Amino acid sequence: MTELRVRFAPSPTGYLHVGGARTALYNWLYARRHAGTVILRIEDTDADRSKPELTQAILDSLEWLGLDWDEGPYYQSERLELYRARASQLERQGHAYPCFCPPDELQKKRQTAEAAHRAWKYDGTCRDLSEPDRARRRAQGRPWALRFRTPESGRTAFDDLVFGRIELENSEIEDFVLLRSDGQPTYHLSVVADDLDLRITHVIRGADHLSNTPKQILMYHALSSSQPVFAHLPLILGPDKQRLSKRHGATSVGAYRDQGILPEALMNFLALLGWAPPGGKEIVSPEEMVEQFDLAAASKSNAVFDPEKLAWMNSEYLRRMPLEALLPRVRGELEISGLWSSAFSGSERQRFEDSVRLLQTRARTLKDFSESGRAFFTDDFPYELEARRKFWKESRLADWLRDLAQRLSNLSSFDLEQTEKCLRDLAEEKGIRAGVLINAARVGLTGQAVAPGLFEVMRALGRERTVRRLERAAAALAPSAPDRA
Ligand code: GLU
Repeated sequence: MTELRVRFAPSPTGYLHVGGARTALYNWLYARRHAGTVILRIEDTDADRSKPELTQAILDSLEWLGLDWDEGPYYQSERLELYRARASQLERQGHAYPCFCPPDELQKKRQTAEAAHRAWKYDGTCRDLSEPDRARRRAQGRPWALRFRTPESGRTAFDDLVFGRIELENSEIEDFVLLRSDGQPTYHLSVVADDLDLRITHVIRGADHLSNTPKQILMYHALSSSQPVFAHLPLILGPDKQRLSKRHGATSVGAYRDQGILPEALMNFLALLGWAPPGGKEIVSPEEMVEQFDLAAASKSNAVFDPEKLAWMNSEYLRRMPLEALLPRVRGELEISGLWSSAFSGSERQRFEDSVRLLQTRARTLKDFSESGRAFFTDDFPYELEARRKFWKESRLADWLRDLAQRLSNLSSFDLEQTEKCLRDLAEEKGIRAGVLINAARVGLTGQAVAPGLFEVMRALGRERTVRRLERAAAALAPSAPDRA
């Protein structure tokens, strides 16, 4: 059996967006499932729009997602000779011809056709020029492009692994350009030349390329080569069923990384945009995906990108992640947001771990550790306005919190049971509900109205810091006190 070879072929004219990432993932899963080879090819022949920093960003995003490759990256900009050689071969064998039509003339013809609501297709002006005519035009130095000679009759058909049988009358396919007048290959030429040269057996790509496939198949026929198997993946739509775009929010993989989404969650989410594992399980590990992935089971209906589902999936991954795996991720997040302290890997290691464990079950993204969880990692946090309004209303609170701080510092052991008893006893003595003290203390300790259980928060912060924060809250509660801790 021939070895299975797939390629992912991004154009570095933008960042890696979720559609491209899903294509990369499906190639990767298919190859890993069938012990095939993944090839990475950078389609950078458009010199004006391709940027090296975008190539790097694409490589970084693939790596971050955990999608590795076995060969490449190949750069199309370094392979122009190969494309020109294929173009010459096609021309020599009569499958391509030089077209001398000036671009402005073509433009005019197209506009006239469009004005009359006729579909425009190259009219073949140069298709049957005689050799002497061609030679004369060349001798005059007239610029020319190379066009593919599409058969006038017959039909081109292929069996797409996802979309099934697709057929097109050749008469509907125009004589498309292979080489532009400046000698640059078009997408069709470079992609077919490369897929042949790299011995690609399966072309897995977005459904936006479906209409390109018959043209490319005609080229394989003309080159007397067998064509790869094609599998086109459905479009990705936003929740409003319009094609996913920036209007819907973040679309690049890098933006999701910056929002604190875990790569394994994004990978899982992308895998389900067009495929469902048997049994309809939603949380699927990369190993399970590789074991079960099947293009024949992929859907041809458009997939809907639901950011809420991604957020849910991310929180599931966070919740299920073993603490040892989560700690370095949170460290990374704290470093980015300037909250990391070297003490967290030394004298305050325990506090760091306790805090992460406590926040883990509620976090939806890694950002939650540095944002809503900020007070666990630094003393420099604000008291949220809403929280103060709601829970710092009672005029005697400053005294009560000071009292609570005093009592906590005298406890024989600063554990969950004793801290809770201490607070409840105080509430009873003062004749108030424990909730009043709990809520007020929570704002003092975390700046927020909603946070993990108060006594667990105390334990994570430790006695000294808890006492200090309660005293600081009491001071802030006094009129005209600053509202920042
Ligand atoms: N470079 C093309 C793109 O980014 C992919 C071409 C292909 O897969 O044939 O859409």
